[in-house]
Amino acid sequence: MDYFLTDEEKALQEKARTIAETLILPVRDELDEKAEFPREIIKEMGKQGMLSIFIPKEFGGTGGKIMDMCIACEEVARVCGGVATAYAVSALGAGPIIFFGTEEQKKKYLPKIATGELLCAFGLTEAQAGSDVANIQTTAQRDGDFYILNGVKQFISNGSIAEIYVVLASSDKSKGARGISAFIVEKGTPGFSFGKEENKLGIRTSTTTELVFEDCRVPKENLMGKEGFGFIYTMRNFDRARPGVGAIALGIAQGAYEEVLDFTYRRNLLNSQYVQRKVADMATEIEAARALLYATARMIDSGAKNFTKEASFAKLYPSDVAMIITTAAIELMGPYGVLKDYHVEKMLRDAKISQIYEGTNEIQRAVIALELTREMGKRERQRRER
Ligand SMILES: Cc1cc2nc3c(=O)[nH]c(=O)nc-3n(C[C@H](O)[C@H](O)[C@H](O)COP(=O)(O)OP(=O)(O)OC[C@H]3O[C@@H](n4cnc5c(N)ncnc54)[C@H](O)[C@@H]3O)c2cc1C
Repeated sequence: MDYFLTDEEKALQEKARTIAETLILPVRDELDEKAEFPREIIKEMGKQGMLSIFIPKEFGGTGGKIMDMCIACEEVARVCGGVATAYAVSALGAGPIIFFGTEEQKKKYLPKIATGELLCAFGLTEAQAGSDVANIQTTAQRDGDFYILNGVKQFISNGSIAEIYVVLASSDKSKGARGISAFIVEKGTPGFSFGKEENKLGIRTSTTTELVFEDCRVPKENLMGKEGFGFIYTMRNFDRARPGVGAIALGIAQGAYEEVLDFTYRRNLLNSQYVQRKVADMATEIEAARALLYATARMIDSGAKNFTKEASFAKLYPSDVAMIITTAAIELMGPYGVLKDYHVEKMLRDAKISQIYEGTNEIQRAVIALELTREMGKRERQRRER
């Protein structure tokens, strides 16, 4: 379908596709097998300006549009969902600095993030807090010009690789979610180390690591925005980042669909009515996911104020579609589908994780239902006032 991309968007799509096919495709199996972080690829993406697309122009970026991120993530994930995640996580970590950081924090970090000199990560999840953000146990105690962080974060993408970590910690436990604050913690800060590195099913090239804080002294200048606003910043950051996860899922689905279409065509399987139905459904579901994703991205980029529900749509639907498509692709390819040579088994492994990270799809459904309830309450109040 034609989504009337601008000339700039088409050029970005072309650039991302070239990077994916020339730099990532030749090494994707090796990166997956060894669960090796794609350092050289991310470095080259930085050189080619791909890490500047989520940074505003005044800080050395090219604008920070969600649509650009969606286009880039989709193209990279069409070849490798793991590299796409490693790339997109820098935007997830940079988001709070862009939107809630002080002028000094923006000037200090954003230009270097735009070039890829600094990579970012976002540290929210703990053993007892992920879906239940308010239950964060990591503490941040004020001590003169410093905050002292103690606690352990788990499942942090780009953990140990990134130089800059946006970390959520409770600066006042008695206030629950309203006591959570966000901090910028630089790699190398005394008291900040890395724990277990996870060995995962999918997106294996994207590193997933524990962050350990033991009396880690963070300068008070590294507090993001206001104390006690970390929960709100996190939710607003997710609203802008979730379409990126949807785009990664869409790219994985597109990659699997192309593999299976090629396979069925070459083997004359497209004559079978069963196969015809399957590929027709696949094509329709992918296009529906893309239309939903792009519409959400355009809505956010147009300056919409509240897009929590739409951001969840844009994460939930493409990631469910990615699982449906990759599962169907393996089914249609039969024994070849489970062979590493045909790549759809990797795509299925990568797709599964897109339903889990950045808020599981069950949490997306809960978010959507909450927003619908709010909308109904608002309508009811307006009806009563009439
Ligand atoms: C590969 C990978 C990369 C990740 N990267 C990052 C990262 O960079 N930064 C970061 O902070 N986190 C990251 N995460 C963590 C991820 O976002 C969380 O694991 C995820 O949101 C689930 O939260 P949880 O760990 O608390 O699990 P739980 O909430 O304990 O989930 C367990 C199950 O319970 C269900 N559940 C929980 N609450 C509800 C509810 N209210 N209603 C219905 N079902 C519910 C969940 O859907 C899930 O099925 C990553 C995770 C993975 C796997």
